[in-house]
Amino acid sequence: MPEQDRTPEASDLAVFLDAGKTPYHAVAEVTRRLTNAGFEAFREREPWQVALGARGYVVRAGGSVIAFQLGTRPPAEAGFLIIGAHTDSPNLRLKPLPDLTSVGYRQLSVEVYGGVLLSTWLDRELSLAGRVVLADGKTELIDLERAVCRIPNLAIHLNREVNTAGLQLNAQTHLLPVLGLESQAGGFSTLLSEGLGDTPSSGARVEDVLGFDLCLYDTQRAGFAGGKGEFLCASRLDNLSSCHAALSALLGSPVSSEVTRVVALYDHEEVGSQSVSGARSLLIADVLERLAAGCSPRDASALPRAISRSLLVSADMAHAVHPNYADKHDKQHRPVLGAGPVIKVNANQSYATDGPAAAAFNAACRRVDVTPQHFSSRNDMACGSTIGPISAARLGVRAIDVGTPMLGMHSCREMAAVSDVAPMIRVLTSLFSGFAGLDSAS
Ligand SMILES: [Zn+2]
Repeated sequence: MPEQDRTPEASDLAVFLDAGKTPYHAVAEVTRRLTNAGFEAFREREPWQVALGARGYVVRAGGSVIAFQLGTRPPAEAGFLIIGAHTDSPNLRLKPLPDLTSVGYRQLSVEVYGGVLLSTWLDRELSLAGRVVLADGKTELIDLERAVCRIPNLAIHLNREVNTAGLQLNAQTHLLPVLGLESQAGGFSTLLSEGLGDTPSSGARVEDVLGFDLCLYDTQRAGFAGGKGEFLCASRLDNLSSCHAALSALLGSPVSSEVTRVVALYDHEEVGSQSVSGARSLLIADVLERLAAGCSPRDASALPRAISRSLLVSADMAHAVHPNYADKHDKQHRPVLGAGPVIKVNANQSYATDGPAAAAFNAACRRVDVTPQHFSSRNDMACGSTIGPISAARLGVRAIDVGTPMLGMHSCREMAAVSDVAPMIRVLTSLFSGFAGLDSAS
């Protein structure tokens, strides 16, 4: 595919996807981009001085980050436009005591994080990345970058019914990656030592590591595929694509607007958001409270006034119709790759979208000449959910669920359309620039 056919947005997304190997790495990449654009780092432990027009971000627990750009009017008078997404993706993570041996092999003990499509992790060259906490209190990101382990399929000769009965994988016994041969020295501590070598604490020893959160990842980088190169194939499209779109919209919007813009990127969505930094935590409420109160110090109702005018856009990937399984979608509401952003509706509130919120999103689409698609699941199938309804309930904020269409969600390697990347960024930018506030009473 000629380079020029890849939109700059899609090429930048590929870079972002490769950088965000774990939620901690994704947040590091987000804060690097924010810092380069002049956003200031705020810390939850400090008092904040916020003024109209201020731009900043705050990180919680390494895997969640909230960025904001205060408007030219206080949030109590102009509201918040919040775009939410998640930094985590289903994967395999190391257990606390990872070293194992079996019939001459060294292996790693892993736990399944989130709704992993297990079979897609087989026969891939896997590496290890995440964070370690050292005895001096420092936290360091580590990334081995090279293929260190693999989960081989069982040969078909030893599993004759695999193609007819389907592949049955036991998450405890069949997913242990092979790290090496028992006859060779090496094990988890060797990996740790290699990982520490590339960090600012390169003098640190394995014994200095007092805690860790480490994930396996596929070493194959994001790439383009298709007869015309129309597809972007990568790990973690769900949901780093939406993190990238939200961040790009924030950084690409004109600096000045009345509304306060917020991008909230959460860890732990894939496991229910119930954590210190997930969408069910008080993280967003704490940040919005400080922003609203900071701009209206004498108004005890600054936060609820701000919330009553606000909109939260929950951006998460959407299921495109699969050509080999077209009957899995409602006929009228089956998005396709390459046809633009998707509005997700579920009357039973698995998605938060309602009429007024959909209207605000549709208006933003019209301003930039994008026609959205619509997703509503079959009535005889369970519907997924997102941080949208959680945030709506927790904050009392009007919310809408949208997303970029994709195939193979939760596969180790997913796919989306190159041509869908830029329109989502355009619509989110249009929302940030042209949102005039909602009325919570309507
Ligand atoms: Zn997702």
